[in-house]
Amino acid sequence: MRRTVALMNPNATSETLLDCYICATCGTQYAPSVMPPEACRVCTDDRQHVGWDGQRWTTHAELAARHDVRIERDGAFVGVGIVERFAIPQRALLVPTSIGTVMWDCTSVVTADAIDAVNRIGGVALIAISHPHFYSSMVEWAEALGGVPILLHGDDADWVMRPSPLIRHWHGDRLALADDATLIHLPGHFPGSSALLCADPTDTARRALLTGDSLHVAGDRRHITVMHSVPNYLPVGPATIRDLRRRLDGVAFDDLYGFTWGLNVIGGADAAVAASFERYLSAISDRDAVDPRSNQRSSSASATMIPSGPRR
Ligand SMILES: [Zn+2]
Ligand SMILES: [Zn+2]
Repeated sequence: MRRTVALMNPNATSETLLDCYICATCGTQYAPSVMPPEACRVCTDDRQHVGWDGQRWTTHAELAARHDVRIERDGAFVGVGIVERFAIPQRALLVPTSIGTVMWDCTSVVTADAIDAVNRIGGVALIAISHPHFYSSMVEWAEALGGVPILLHGDDADWVMRPSPLIRHWHGDRLALADDATLIHLPGHFPGSSALLCADPTDTARRALLTGDSLHVAGDRRHITVMHSVPNYLPVGPATIRDLRRRLDGVAFDDLYGFTWGLNVIGGADAAVAASFERYLSAISDRDAVDPRSNQRSSSASATMIPSGPRR
């Protein structure tokens, strides 16, 4: 459904008729157009859903007038988000590495104040993104940061809604960005879903795996799950879980950072992921693992001991 011109861009002139519209439900920015797209491809995909009030569009200018950029610590990293909820809600992390700061994942709003704040703490060398739900306003950010490259996994190339020469696709299972930062391909949620393995900037003896929702942190923050769709509750199958288990075999990390503020597994995260894979496989197996007397699952995997307790 199309919005009225007044809602699209009240300041439009013949020179500014083109705008890069942003979907109000998922936060994805689209290529320049006079009218908003007929539909949001991200929201009409079975992983997402169209907003309950129907498809709504906004622009970056409207968002920047309504929302400030939130920049504050999330665990060991500086996080970047949006003041007052918008869209998914995405949260990016600034990751210091030997080649400069990597902005992991992205958000829909960038302001001059945010760029000043980011530059005061060293700027950003490149943007790398876990999966299409975080592509958001990546081109807006990359241009505002001075034209930094955007690294996306090539298996999700079809999901780029606002193309740019700054976008570079990487391929394969891993890509070393620096001595202390490696992208790991973790297909499941999306074909190109990936994670960033990096050093903890507050304690170089610790390593962190930043997953967006390639691995989705559960509410207890001691387990992860892997979903084709989080809001529509569509799990992946056992072959995907076994493949992810193989891809992370031997990868050591202390902490795991999920897709939004505070949704992190702090301490013993690699063991928590391994236990979560076993729990998941047990939960989707075709044997009835529910004990009717206790209404509890009787699987041994659900009782697997994993280290617990937040470090900070
Ligand atoms: Zn959308
Ligand atoms: Zn997602």
